[in-house]
Amino acid sequence: MIEGQDIETRQNALAREIAARRDDLVALTQDLIRIPTLNPPGECYRDICDYLARRLKPSGFEIKLLRAEGTPGDSARYPRWNVVARREGGRVGPCVHFNSHIDVVEAGAGWTFDPFGGTVSDGKIYGRGACDMKGGLAASIIAAEAFIALWPEYPGAIEISGTADEETGGYGGVAWLAEQGYFSPERVQHVIIPEPLNKDRICLGHRGVMWAQIKTHGRIAHGSMPFLGDCAVRHMGAVISEMESSLFPALAQKHTSMPVVPDGARQSTMNINSLHGGQAEPAPDFTGFPSACVPDEARMVIDRRYLIEEQADEVREEIITLLERVKAERAGFRYDFEELWQVSPTMTSVDAPVVKAVERGIRSALSCEPVHVVSPGTYDQKHIDRIGRLKYCIAYGPGILDLAHQPDEYVGIDDMVDSAKVMAFALDDLLYGRT
Ligand SMILES: [Zn+2]
Repeated sequence: MIEGQDIETRQNALAREIAARRDDLVALTQDLIRIPTLNPPGECYRDICDYLARRLKPSGFEIKLLRAEGTPGDSARYPRWNVVARREGGRVGPCVHFNSHIDVVEAGAGWTFDPFGGTVSDGKIYGRGACDMKGGLAASIIAAEAFIALWPEYPGAIEISGTADEETGGYGGVAWLAEQGYFSPERVQHVIIPEPLNKDRICLGHRGVMWAQIKTHGRIAHGSMPFLGDCAVRHMGAVISEMESSLFPALAQKHTSMPVVPDGARQSTMNINSLHGGQAEPAPDFTGFPSACVPDEARMVIDRRYLIEEQADEVREEIITLLERVKAERAGFRYDFEELWQVSPTMTSVDAPVVKAVERGIRSALSCEPVHVVSPGTYDQKHIDRIGRLKYCIAYGPGILDLAHQPDEYVGIDDMVDSAKVMAFALDDLLYGRT
């Protein structure tokens, strides 16, 4: 193959290479699903990293197996392994990085297929992680391998990483790698995360998130004489009532210009994640009765998702103002507010080369117009953006987002082939600087 070919000829060659690898793509996805990388607790990370290393070495990738020692969850029993594979083309040029998380969530109930069997049925591959996101990982590997087979001496470098713990925050995965410099803009210029966003969509980023804990305090007393105590649960009830009457309606009025999907997430939202008050829940086999006590503490955890138009300080202030309002109206009301975790919203510019390249790939491979979206929840892009300071990052991959974490999760084989073509076309554009 010579490099002077026009783009159409190159894309036809890539499409043929990928179509010829269809069975390989299916087998690779099945193999990945059959390694049950459950998180928590973080099973089989080393196994899947070793598998990926064996897979990528023959194409000329240099492999690094990296354990994120000391990160949350890392232990001798459950080490946090990551794999970073890099292949230089032999000439100066940019680095394009495909990042996939290797972990999957628990299978849960309701499956008609073996969640770790990788069964193929009716053009789909079933299994936990099929769409989120072992199908995307497999598609990116096939895209890279097809590209390398045609033009092994490309400018720049291709990287493929398999990283731990995305489902639990990414601290033993992308966050740690970013801290070690693996996602610095000097080293990597463009990142594609093949999360399942549908093959015609480009995900530019995500909303922000703030987790916080609210505690209300009371005074314990005998339950037959509640007037001698002070019920923390009733105080919490007043907080919820204030949220219902003022906060939730206010959040529904805050609309965003971010193209968040689904539509319901195109505004500020808040979930009451948990609520505990009074005596601890008894064990399921406990047959006794509760004792008569007035609860002296209640605890609520909230999960507030915010927009690029909002600031973290405003989001925090809004809750504190609400609590102060309840305090002003309610005798004996005492509370604590503690922020647990905060991630800023992020949105890559639509003018970024990686966006342009994938847009063109979608138009050429699928003959349709690409759609820009933003994720309602965060994913590893947050660490690439905040820790790595790398701004040219998107999520693009096969699979239907709604199937993630569901029983009978699957990825469509045609969708994987199509998105592998898009990724390969984008790779070609980015490495050769046609963006
Ligand atoms: Zn995912």
